[in-house]
Formats: sequence, C-alpha cells, structure tokens
Amino acid sequence: MKWSLKLGKLFGIDVYLHFTFLLLLAFLGFYFWRATHDIDAALRGVVFIVALFGCVVLHELGHALMARRYGIQTRDITLLPIGGIARLEKMPEKPMQEFWVALAGPAVNMVIALLLLVGLAATGGFTPVEDLGATGGSFWQRLFVLNLILVAFNLLPAFPMDGGRVLRALLAMRLGRRRATAIAANVGQAMAILFGVVGFFYNPFLIFIGIFVFLGAQAEAGMVEMQSALAGLRVRDAMMTRFRTLAAQDTLAKAVEELLAGSQQDFPVLENDQPIGVLRRNDLVKALSEGRRDDAVTAGMSRDCETVDEASSLKSAVESMRERQYATMPVVAGGRMVGLLTLENISEMIMVNAAIDHQGASHSLTTKPTPKNYETAS
Ligand SMILES: [Zn+2]
Repeated sequence: MKWSLKLGKLFGIDVYLHFTFLLLLAFLGFYFWRATHDIDAALRGVVFIVALFGCVVLHELGHALMARRYGIQTRDITLLPIGGIARLEKMPEKPMQEFWVALAGPAVNMVIALLLLVGLAATGGFTPVEDLGATGGSFWQRLFVLNLILVAFNLLPAFPMDGGRVLRALLAMRLGRRRATAIAANVGQAMAILFGVVGFFYNPFLIFIGIFVFLGAQAEAGMVEMQSALAGLRVRDAMMTRFRTLAAQDTLAKAVEELLAGSQQDFPVLENDQPIGVLRRNDLVKALSEGRRDDAVTAGMSRDCETVDEASSLKSAVESMRERQYATMPVVAGGRMVGLLTLENISEMIMVNAAIDHQGASHSLTTKPTPKNYETAS
C-alpha cells in the first residue's frame, strides 16, 4: 500500500504501518493531553493505543496463518486507523476454509482476552468498571475489554468484515458462492449504513468503517459476479476484432487523428506486425500538452507491453489486467496481433450475456468464482 512504513516481518509476512495511523496517534496524544493537561497521561493513552493495535496485528496474523494451512500465502499486513488489512493472495474457495480463516482473527482476540482475564484474576488487578476510561483505570483491564469489543464488532455480519465472511461461507454451502456473496453483500451494505448513522451521533470512526464496508461489499460482490460471468470463456470470446493500430514511425499527431476518429482510447504500436508497446490516451494527452505533436509514437507509448494469447482463459486475463491496471491489452495468436482486449468491451459482453441469460436462452454460464483480496476492518 502507498504511504506505508515497514515495521518488520512476522512469520515471514511483512507488516506495514500506514502513515495516517501516525496521524491518529498524534491526534489522540493531543486529545488526551487537552482532556487531562498531563503529559504522562497523554503518553499512557498513546501507549495503550499502540498495545491495542498490537492485538489487531495478532488478529490479522490469525487470518494469515490459518490461510497458510490451506496453502494460501499473505502478501502483507497493513495497519490503518480503522483497523488492519491482511492481503491474502486469494480467498479460499471452499466455504469451510473461508469459514475457518474468517474466524481465526476474532479467535486470537478471544484468546488474548482470556489470558488477560486469568492474569487480572491472579493479581487481583481489577478496577471498578466506573473508573475505567480512555486514560484512567487498569491498563490490562482496558485491554481485556477492548479485545472483547474487537471480537464482538468483527463478528457483526458486515461483509467483507469477518462476521460477514462467516455468513457468506455458511450461505455458500447451500446456495453457491455467487448467490451467497450477493446476499452477504446486501446485508453488509445495510450494516454499513447503520454504522454511518450510529457513527454520526457517537463515534466518527464508525463512519469511516461504514464507508469501507459499503465499498468493500460492493467491490467484492461485483468481482464475484464478474468472475462467474467470465468462467469458462476464452480471451477470443471477448476481444475486439475491429481496432486500429499505429506503426512505430507514426507521429503523435497521427495518433490524435485516430483518437478523434473513433471510440478507441489506447492504441497498440506495431513493428513488423509485432506489438512493441501501447500508446494510452493519458500518455498521448500528456505528450501533446508538452508540445510534442511531431514526435514518433514510440516516444509516448508505454513499453511494458504484455500481450495475451487468444486461447487463454478470460478470467485470468482480466485478473492480470486489473493487477497491472491496464485498460487495454493486445491479443496475439501465433505471434501475430489478432485482437484487442479492453475492460470496457468485457463489461459490454457481460451485459449482453446477462441479457441473453435473462431471456432464458440456452446460453448459460457456469459459476466458479475466486476473489483475490481479503480485507478486514478490526
Ligand atoms: Zn479479521
């Protein structure tokens, strides 16, 4: 993630701190100081928040290590002011596996709470509940209470939070993943709106978490929907076969003519029939604003020109386009360029297929999705 600071490695997984988290610490330090006018109390408050987020890291590690048991690696763990995010390379496809991976996070906080409870009972360290506050009362007892809150909050069925994933996994066992995701995402968005309303009156952080959940549910539901629509299709089923290309010696002025003449935005640049790069609209506009109309297109194009074979699976082609943030990818067959794959065209194809499906035509699409990212608000 951008703007992140690497803290270290735990069990081979990089742990990052987002810089907004430092802003949160500074803000809270100031807030505690204003409330108490006591530097010591403010520092204790900050140390407590750090300890709390230590528990959040362990929570994310719970997800990551459970996923590892199923052969799924975790790219990294990042701490944000609203919680932690463990980026798993993919989500387990089997509902039972997703169920255990989702539960592993809150289970860690439950274990921490129990250990703190035993420690507090053994040392007689309990403070009366009314003396507990943000900076007052027993440090360990406050940590105990907040771990319990983490468990309860994360188990709310607010997909893509843990409880929502548990719900999706349970539904998927009976309804299949596509339908289960749609239902879990609807419940999640309703919860997100509730978070927003409650947050408005009580705690502004809930508003941020609500936004995160709302957008997260939408994105994952859309992804599962798209993946199930793409399952079983090949790149050649969705590529544009009517497209324009540029030659390496063409000028940027020629590219502008092509841009204005049609709806295509990115142009493959060919040399001896081989794609050697793609001139994207943004790069073209940038070159023009620098007054480089007469330069060759090769000066403005991006050279990291990945191509995809027409026989490859459409689903993995779309995944790699998303990963690289490409809107367009040249399609080749036997080394020659035969088509252009664009995200716009793919969504049009999905729309058309959905319409045909809706008509009850024999053109049916199978359901076998695989989401990629695993995000958790804690
Ligand atoms: Zn979690």
